[in-house]
Amino acid sequence: MSPHRSHWLRQVLATDTDVAPALAGEAKADVAIVGGGFCGLWTALELKALEPSLDVAIVERDICGGGASGRNAGYVINLWAKFPTLVDLCGSDGAVRLGRAAAAAVAEIDAFCRDHGIDAEYRPDGWLWGATCASQAGAWDPVLEALARHQLTPFQVLAAQEIASRWGIEGHVGGGVLEPSCATVHPAKLVRGLRRVALAQGVRIHENSPLVRLERGPRPRIVTAGGSLAAGTVVLAMNAWAAGFRELRGAFFVTAAEAAITAPVPELLAKMGWENGPAATDSRFMVANYRTTRDGRIEFGKGGGVLAFGGTVGAKYESPAHRLPLMHKEFHEAIPRLAGVAAIHSWVGPIDRSMAGVPLFSALPGSERVFFGVGFSGNGVGPSKVGGKILASLVLGVKDEWSTCGLVRPPTPALPGEPFRYLGGSLVRRAVMRKDWIDHAGGQADPITRALVALAPAGLTPTTTSRRAAS
Ligand SMILES: Cc1cc2nc3c(=O)[nH]c(=O)nc-3n(C[C@H](O)[C@H](O)[C@H](O)COP(=O)(O)OP(=O)(O)OC[C@H]3O[C@@H](n4cnc5c(N)ncnc54)[C@H](O)[C@@H]3O)c2cc1C
Repeated sequence: MSPHRSHWLRQVLATDTDVAPALAGEAKADVAIVGGGFCGLWTALELKALEPSLDVAIVERDICGGGASGRNAGYVINLWAKFPTLVDLCGSDGAVRLGRAAAAAVAEIDAFCRDHGIDAEYRPDGWLWGATCASQAGAWDPVLEALARHQLTPFQVLAAQEIASRWGIEGHVGGGVLEPSCATVHPAKLVRGLRRVALAQGVRIHENSPLVRLERGPRPRIVTAGGSLAAGTVVLAMNAWAAGFRELRGAFFVTAAEAAITAPVPELLAKMGWENGPAATDSRFMVANYRTTRDGRIEFGKGGGVLAFGGTVGAKYESPAHRLPLMHKEFHEAIPRLAGVAAIHSWVGPIDRSMAGVPLFSALPGSERVFFGVGFSGNGVGPSKVGGKILASLVLGVKDEWSTCGLVRPPTPALPGEPFRYLGGSLVRRAVMRKDWIDHAGGQADPITRALVALAPAGLTPTTTSRRAAS
């Protein structure tokens, strides 16, 4: 096993050793899905639920869950924090509908796991969106205001004192908001559970089968090193790797998120009252997160990692965390009581960050039988369940609330070509880091830094540019 697999995958693969056969020879399917992460698997499961006789096959480069789905922090979050963007994209009614669907998806994941005997360590303990300095305080206000205009109140406002006394998270000095209906999972147990159910429902899975060529046309064909699959419809559920398609490359940035895990410290967590407390994030642009696990560990991580030149997901995405000292610093600042607790393992994973910060689904321009779902932007664990419904409706040609929702939109190239994208992106990334640091030091960022930060794709909260991209 690669030493850089996530902690979650290492835990699961210790006992789950099943590897599906690679694609070999010439084969056919009604629907061929490229990518065996949450998006591909939920799409396959949705298709089988709607049309059980459909012959669905998944072709996966690595093993199912080997991508971001087996590496993430396991926050099952809905889309309420993106509500202003959803309004820009879909109008008020559409935004409310999608927001409700994404909120329902959290509980649907729990129900699916219960129905199919998947122990994904689902814990409905909520998401705490907090502020670790005065500048971050109220980062959620525009979201809460937009929601209130629609009589929606999913967040509870909490003072710093309450966050500290309930869960021992003393570094959220600017307070926070709690979304109690969010949850956490063990992501690898979830994705490998979905794979098991998909196989049981007749989905054919081919692992260790990277797509090397897609032949377009009325009956597209997937070609791998060992075989080919001719299909009525192809779905690209490839996350950041989809940047390999020139039609999609300009629609999102390939960046990274990093994660780390500690040894179990259940006594400490019990003393803090955090063992079953919410999964937390701060409000940095390069967001820091920290959550507990069922076996008493803390997973902590950080967004805004390395950019990929030309969108190529290469070796730097298969490595220990690049910014582990910074991740420790931010984790310990947020929770000073855990200052002596350090990571025992860390990893990196690719992120497909769209300018609007929400995913997009559509047919590949010029290829009406090839659909894609991409741009989950670091928030795909819950929303990929909705993504599966959208892609299934698109594949089946059904005109319904999913296929007509505002997330179904063409991959408008919003980003310049290389080398300008990488150079410009690196400049913006540095400005974002600088702004986060200055905010924490209680300073005021200079106008150039602020102007560059405004160009960044949306993080938790939208930037000016991301709102423009959505409208
Ligand atoms: C460190 C980290 C922390 C995160 N934390 C959270 C979180 O807490 N909550 C949250 O909601 N989201 C989080 N995310 C994001 C979340 O993991 C993703 O949005 C989600 O997993 C996307 O699912 P997916 O199926 O689109 O992508 P993936 O799981 O990456 O699936 C894409 C699959 O395509 C395969 N593939 C690529 N190229 C080919 C090819 N040529 N041929 C065949 N197969 C191919 C890949 O191997 C991969 O398995 C995090 C991501 C990372 C990296």
